[in-house]
Amino acid sequence: MPSYDPQNIFAKILRGELPCYKVYEDDKALAFLDIMPRAPGHTLVLPKAPARNLLDVKPDDLAAVAQVAQKVASAAMKVFSADGITLQQFNEGAGGQVVFHLHFHVIPRKAGVPMKPPASEKEKPEVLSDHALKLAAALKG
Ligand code: 5GP
Repeated sequence: MPSYDPQNIFAKILRGELPCYKVYEDDKALAFLDIMPRAPGHTLVLPKAPARNLLDVKPDDLAAVAQVAQKVASAAMKVFSADGITLQQFNEGAGGQVVFHLHFHVIPRKAGVPMKPPASEKEKPEVLSDHALKLAAALKG
């Protein structure tokens, strides 16, 4: 497996070199909205420590990310009146991974509504801002 590339887009977001619609942050993990959501509220949860994917992440970092994914999922159920949550995580190109810093997709789902295809449409900034604010507030409360 190739080594971790610190120039990947999520590493730049983690360093504050690129913006994101932040939903949650603690000392080990960051959660922000996917800018091409497969459903409203589609959130990405990342470890702050460098890890390419599931195959090289340290167990403690993986545990921290799983805990944040669970918190985000609970908040998203309320904020988006969701009927369920789809959790996705891809490893290496053959596994569907496009950005090579480990991340989990937390996708709120409504019964009978299919997800959009991956990376099909950029959401409007005002919609992303509104969703990030609502999720962040639910995660605080
Ligand atoms: P994966 O690597 O798991 O296949 O997917 C990468 C995800 O990152 C995609 O869902 C895509 O929409 C999202 N994405 C790509 N570029 C950006 C970006 O610059 N900012 C954010 N927030 N998401 C991105």
